[in-house]
Amino acid sequence: MKRRDFLTGLGAGAVATSLSGCAQKCPQSAAGVASKSRATFNWKMVTTWPPNFPGLGTGANYLARAIEDMSAGQITVKVFAAGELVPAFEAFDAVSQGTAQLGHSASYYWKGKSAAAQLFSAVPFGMNAQEMTAWILHGDAMELWKEVYEPFNIIPAPAGHTGVQMGGWFNKEINSVADLRGLKMRIPGLGGEVLKRAGGTPVSMPGSEIFTSLQTGNIDATEWTGPYNDLAFGLHQVGKYYYYPGWHEPNTMLECIINRDAFNELPDNLQSIVLRASDAAAQNMLAEYTARNHIALKTLKEEHNVQLRPFPPDVLQRLRTLSKEILAEIAASDELFARVYKHYREFQQNVSAWHDISEKAYYLTTN
Ligand code: CA
Repeated sequence: MKRRDFLTGLGAGAVATSLSGCAQKCPQSAAGVASKSRATFNWKMVTTWPPNFPGLGTGANYLARAIEDMSAGQITVKVFAAGELVPAFEAFDAVSQGTAQLGHSASYYWKGKSAAAQLFSAVPFGMNAQEMTAWILHGDAMELWKEVYEPFNIIPAPAGHTGVQMGGWFNKEINSVADLRGLKMRIPGLGGEVLKRAGGTPVSMPGSEIFTSLQTGNIDATEWTGPYNDLAFGLHQVGKYYYYPGWHEPNTMLECIINRDAFNELPDNLQSIVLRASDAAAQNMLAEYTARNHIALKTLKEEHNVQLRPFPPDVLQRLRTLSKEILAEIAASDELFARVYKHYREFQQNVSAWHDISEKAYYLTTN
C-alpha cells in the first residue's frame, strides 16, 4: 500500500500543503493550531485474533498501516494480537479504559456488555455483507451502534466483513434436527443461543483454542470462518464433515473500536483519517475473503479430500424458526436490543425485496 494512494483519495495532500504554508505566513494563533495539528499520537491496537491471522489479523494490520500511512506518521499504531497485551475477550475493556486506544474485533463478543452489540456483527439468517454495509453506511444504523457503545466510552466503526461463512466442522453427520441434540459446538453469539435452543451446547472460545479442543474431543463441532481461515487453522485435520451454509453468520462485520477520549484528542483531519481508514479496511477485508475463500475451498476438496455437506432443508428451517424466537425473546427483555433489532429487521425486509429481483435473481442466471 502506497501512502500516496491514501493521500490522493482523501485530498489530505492539500491539507498538508496549506498547513505548511500557514506555519510560515499565518499569525501566531493560526500557527499554534498548525503546530497542534502536527502533534504525533502513539496508539496501541488490541485485537481478538491470533497474530497475523489471515483475513482477521491481517485486517487489523491493514487498518493500523492505513492509519499510519494516511496520517503520514502522525498516528502510529502498534498492533497486539490476542494475549499479547490483554486476552482476546478483554479487548473491549482495554479500549474502554484507555489501556489501548484502538481495538479490532467482532461485536458479538461483547454481548455480556450489551445484548444489542451482537446485532452489529452477525445475526442468524440476517443480512449479508452488502446489506450490512448499506445498513451501516446509508441506513442510519451508525447512530444506533454509537448509542450502544456510548456508555463504554467507545466509538465504533466498521472495519471488515467476512462474507457468508461456512456452517462448520462436524465429527458426525447432521441428517436431522435430532442430530443437533447434545452437540457440543464452538459457536459464538446469537448462533450459539440458537444451537442451545435446538438442544446443543454452545461454547465460546477464541480462535487459537479451537484446533486442540476439537482434536481432543472437548467439543464435537466448531465453526470458525470459511475455507481461507479454516484451512489456515488446519481444521480439516480434526473435523470430518464440512457443512454449509453459515446460517449463523451470513456475514460477520468486524469492528474498529476507538477510545472516545483518545479520539477527541485528535485534530479533525486525523479523526477523519481513523474513520476513513476503517472504511478502507472493511472493503479490503471482504475482497480478501472473496478472493481467497474459493482458492482455499479448492485446496480443501482436492488436496485434503474434505467432505462437504449441505445442511438438510428441514434443519435450516428449524434453526430459522428458533432464531426468530430467540431474537424476539431478547427484544422483549431489552429495550435497546428491541429498538436496534426492529431497525435491523425493517431494513433487511426492505432490502430483500430489492435483492430478490436483483442479486438473487442474477445469481440464478449464472449457474
Ligand atoms: Ca464464525
